[in-house]
Amino acid sequence: MKYCYECGMKLIPKALDGEGIIPYCQTCRTFRFPIFSAAVSMIVKNPAKDKILLIQQYGTKNNVLVAGYINKGENAENAVIREVKEETGLTVVYHNFNKSEYFPRTNTLMFNFVCVADSEDLSGLNTKEVDKAQWFTIEEAIENIMPNSLAQKFLLASIGGAVRGGVPPLSICSHQVNLESAH
Ligand SMILES: [Zn+2]
Repeated sequence: MKYCYECGMKLIPKALDGEGIIPYCQTCRTFRFPIFSAAVSMIVKNPAKDKILLIQQYGTKNNVLVAGYINKGENAENAVIREVKEETGLTVVYHNFNKSEYFPRTNTLMFNFVCVADSEDLSGLNTKEVDKAQWFTIEEAIENIMPNSLAQKFLLASIGGAVRGGVPPLSICSHQVNLESAH
């Protein structure tokens, strides 16, 4: 950030106790901390928790997670419930924070949650925002999610969380999946 977002003055670097060098506006006499957007993305599971919902948007064939920006004044949990409802018509009955990552291309901090929906019924899908929505088994979701995406990172992290509960490590899991599909 080079200029003050209130008055447009060029910011100067200035030391702030305990924070290091922070851009400072001499006109507003205020430190200007970096500003960025905040969004949520959701690993939506069916009531039996054995399937994950992946969607396609904006005319691409990439399978990604349901996601959306957090409104100003809104908390992340509410954004999770609202966005899932708006995009898929599903009602979230449970949500749990999974992982967050900063996405430089849109200057957005993304908070990922694992959610459980009240049904698998996709008849309420918002076809203006979502081209296609489909339930995948956990293994299928891992195979079909957009490679090298934040969505993939979040999904793998959520599985990794389950690994600590006694399930074999993911590398072994996906190896087994590959072996099975090869037979
Ligand atoms: Zn200013």
